[in-house]
Order: sequence, then C-alpha cells, then structure tokens
Amino acid sequence: MTNINIVKELIKYAQRAEQEGLCKHKSGNFSIIDRSTGLVYITPSGFYRADLKVDDIVISDIKGHVRENVNFRKPSIELSMHLKVYEARPNVNAIVHTHSPYATAFAVKGITIEPVTSEAYFYGKNMELVPYYEHGTEELAEHVARSIKYVDVCLLKNHGVLAVGDTMENALLKATYVESVAMIDYISRTL
Ligand SMILES: [Zn+2]
Repeated sequence: MTNINIVKELIKYAQRAEQEGLCKHKSGNFSIIDRSTGLVYITPSGFYRADLKVDDIVISDIKGHVRENVNFRKPSIELSMHLKVYEARPNVNAIVHTHSPYATAFAVKGITIEPVTSEAYFYGKNMELVPYYEHGTEELAEHVARSIKYVDVCLLKNHGVLAVGDTMENALLKATYVESVAMIDYISRTL
C-alpha cells in the first residue's frame, strides 16, 4: 500500500526546504497525496528534517485516520489543514508549509507582498492572507482551505506560508519564490 517513491520524494523536498532557508529546527510541514489511493503522506510532528527516515513518514487517509506509521510518529499538528486543502483543490497533489522569515514578516504586518520581480508569475502573483488562528486548529484548517481555492499561496497571519502544487517540486518552488520576492520587496522598500 505504501508508495516508497512518494515517501522518498517527501523527505527529499522537506530537507531541501530547510537547505533553502524556508524553515528551521522543527517548524514547517510537508505532504503529498496519492490520488490513486487517496492516501496522504505527511512529515511527523516535532522532528528534525535532517534525521527523517522512510519509516518516520506518517500515512493518513483523507479523513485523518492514520493508516501507516511504522515508527509510531505523531503526524504533523497541521494534518487537518493539509487534508482540507486536498479536499478543496482536487488538482493539488503536494503542500509545503513553512515559517520563512521574509514572507512571514509580511504576514505578521498584514502587508501584501507585491509581485516586484518575475518570479512572482510562477506562483500567480496573488496570495490570500488568512487571519490568525492557533496552530493545529480546525478554524485554521477551514480558513486556509477556503482561502486556497483560487490562489496557490496563502500567508498565515503571525505564522507562515502555505504553497500548493501539482507536484512537490512545484509546490516547493512556489514557496521558494514567495520568500525571494518577499525579500526583494522588503529590501527595495527600505532603499
Ligand atoms: Zn506552522
């Protein structure tokens, strides 16, 4: 039942996100859905990405019932947010959630990241700002799922960034470009 290629891809891109500076320590979470089985592969809660092994990935069905959990890890606290996004967006197969510093600073201030360079075209230039709700709550999950319907990126107030894509590579690239556009927007505003 477990698709080992999906597991390996998930670990590879979660670790790459950290190398790109999008998340540090134990924050951030990543998932891929296998649309052929309906199973969602998600990173575990409170775990250093560098230490991730194949058996640390948690596999859940779309209702949040854990189906595979070899090392008895807890799924990410934001599992419900990922599941609701997959329900809201049938064309999305991967989700990247980070606390990347420049984009999150815009989210803290509630300021729109302007599409100041061409990288912004890759994520569609626009994004939604989701009001603050506590991490891991149903309220946060529901508001993100509603906001992500017509955009590929959400800023979560006082929290971070969520980006979606048809593949994990695509979702991570969007999250990476959001951070670099936010950084350039910030620097150019201060000149
Ligand atoms: Zn978070």
